Amino acid sequence: MSVMESTPVRHDCPFCQIVDGRLPATRIFESETVLAFEDIHPVAPVHVLVIPRAHISDPSALDETTAPLMGEMFLVARRVAEQKGIAASGYRLVMNTGRDGGQSVFHMHLHVLGGRMMAWPPG
Ligand code: AMP
Ligand code: ZN
Repeated sequence: MSVMESTPVRHDCPFCQIVDGRLPATRIFESETVLAFEDIHPVAPVHVLVIPRAHISDPSALDETTAPLMGEMFLVARRVAEQKGIAASGYRLVMNTGRDGGQSVFHMHLHVLGGRMMAWPPG
């Protein structure tokens, strides 16, 4: 079974709606399996979200078939950082997971944040 067959689009999921074009987004990059688009409420000069096209709620839902998507997401994040001119200065990759992790959209996504100095520890 392919990744797309094992994780169908969820019609009530905003990021699935972006994947299939029902919800508009400013797309930065797309491949067969991964999509990158501008966050609608940016918290840094660069704030891009990288998602799998397939609906996977969060990293805990990955299995042997879908886990390689995570590597692809990191490769796309690097590409986004290069395209946005923050690869040399540095950036932060964040994947909020579950309630206490601050996840609000339950379609796995990697935040690419940059263009300013990041604080640590996070709030
Ligand atoms: P998280 O809180 O980690 O689940 O992050 C969800 C992110 O999705 C937030 O940064 C939101 O601003 C962003 N977001 C929610 N809806 C949209 C949308 N329709 N287009 C782009 N970004 C969105
Ligand atoms: Zn989804």
